[in-house]
Amino acid sequence: MSNHLFDAIRAAAPGNAPFIRINGGRIWTYDEALDLSGRIASAIDALGIRPGDRVAVQVEKSAEALILYLACLRCGAVYLPLNTAYTLAELDYFIGDAEPRLVVVSPAQREAVATIAVAHGAIVETLDADGAGSLLDLARDEPLDFVDASCSADDLAAILYTSGTTGRSKGAMLTHENLLSNATTLRDCWHVTSGDRLIHALPIFHTHGLFVATNVTLLAGASMFLLSKFDADEVVALMPQATMLMGVPTFYVRLLQSRRLDKQAVANMRLFVSGSAPLLAETHVEFEKRTGHAILERYGMTETNMNTSNPYDGARIAGTVGLPLPGVTVRVTDPATGAVLRHDETGMIEIKGPNVFKGYWRMPEKTLAEFNSDGFFITGDLGKIDTDGYVHIVGRSKDLVISGGYNIYPKEVEGEIDQLDGVAESAVIGIPHPDFGEGVTAIVVRKPNTALDEGAILHALHDRLARYKQPKRIIFAEDLPRNAMGKVQKNVLRQRYADLYA
Ligand code: ATP
Ligand code: MG
Repeated sequence: MSNHLFDAIRAAAPGNAPFIRINGGRIWTYDEALDLSGRIASAIDALGIRPGDRVAVQVEKSAEALILYLACLRCGAVYLPLNTAYTLAELDYFIGDAEPRLVVVSPAQREAVATIAVAHGAIVETLDADGAGSLLDLARDEPLDFVDASCSADDLAAILYTSGTTGRSKGAMLTHENLLSNATTLRDCWHVTSGDRLIHALPIFHTHGLFVATNVTLLAGASMFLLSKFDADEVVALMPQATMLMGVPTFYVRLLQSRRLDKQAVANMRLFVSGSAPLLAETHVEFEKRTGHAILERYGMTETNMNTSNPYDGARIAGTVGLPLPGVTVRVTDPATGAVLRHDETGMIEIKGPNVFKGYWRMPEKTLAEFNSDGFFITGDLGKIDTDGYVHIVGRSKDLVISGGYNIYPKEVEGEIDQLDGVAESAVIGIPHPDFGEGVTAIVVRKPNTALDEGAILHALHDRLARYKQPKRIIFAEDLPRNAMGKVQKNVLRQRYADLYA
């Protein structure tokens, strides 16, 4: 029997070579990890989990948690990771929506989650950050030579909920081939080999840390330092033993704040990848100045895995997300008419390729609405493709501000504000306005000890932006609300200041 994704992982696994290095602790070889995945798969099977059943997992980051993902693939179960920050009320929604047969949580959460899970017909097992808990207790005595379930390219491997940046999280149904094709493509594009050692400091409930980082490592037979969280000094200290880092933009901002980051610290590093949120061109430029490395920015989403990447060989252009990946088609359309736009024209980014998901879990109407009749997925991101083929993202269609009938792309206004002395960062949003429909509004975080005020910023923007793009108000804040992936939650800001012009 063949198991589309796991067979490829098994074929790439270099036996006794390291797979996961826990900093200052144990090294898991590929053999050990695959053996444990067999035992866990046997345990899950013994619990009555069958191919197609969902296994929801809300646990701390650990080697065992990643191995549980492999076990689910082997069982043909649908792996469904959940953000560790979700509250019980949120869990109730996800468990009710996904209807998993098995829910794995940390031991401390067992009782509370059991009341929810049992009501939805699920079994609860536990796994803690050190790999202890009832799941591994069950697995310990099970045979390691599990007979993998047969899974075709089109079978579901995972349901991954979107980050919920623009609204309620949606479950994206991802097939074995979605994951395999994308990870193989990224491995090849980024020249990842068995000699690579990745610094893995991302969460493993999101596409970046789970599929990009983990599947690429697995399919290259490479290894990774599995860190429970991102700590700039710890990451810099690991660099001499590592070759790659995958991060969200805030990692790079924080690395630049570390005085230990210099050319010598990165001497062994081969590649720095950024994604999940826009990397400021300024961060890209500063990082290159300090380290000699041009960060490779790529663009993707829960529904599609990765779509574009700056080239490994060739110009990595700051402020762009690079070129469409091999096999992936990217086009830009007019949001009003759906007509395909020409180079340099801004519109809706649409994607087609083997990476594109099967649809939203139990949301057939939403799925239908987000696909064009010719099979392109409508991403909700606005952008353009330049004459060299590089994709530029200007923001999300839901964040577009329409003021006095004009479209204002927040990124353009944020770019101008961020260049001002004394500004740390900014977020531009539209807030209901009695005269203009929406009023352009900037939330600005100042650098420490700067005396910048609203008038000074408005004055500075006066000659830089067309009048309709100029903010009506500047509001200062201590920081911007961000979710686990470092994305600015503009919906939170829109709510917070909803009555500003009322
Ligand atoms: P939701 O769909 O629930 O509102 P979300 O879109 O933030 O949440 P994810 O799938 O985690 O959930 O994020 C994908 C989005 O992240 C993309 O649609 C895009 O807006 C943004 N993104 C990812 N990579 C980049 C990048 N390199 N530059 C700019 N934006 C990016
Ligand atoms: Mg989204």
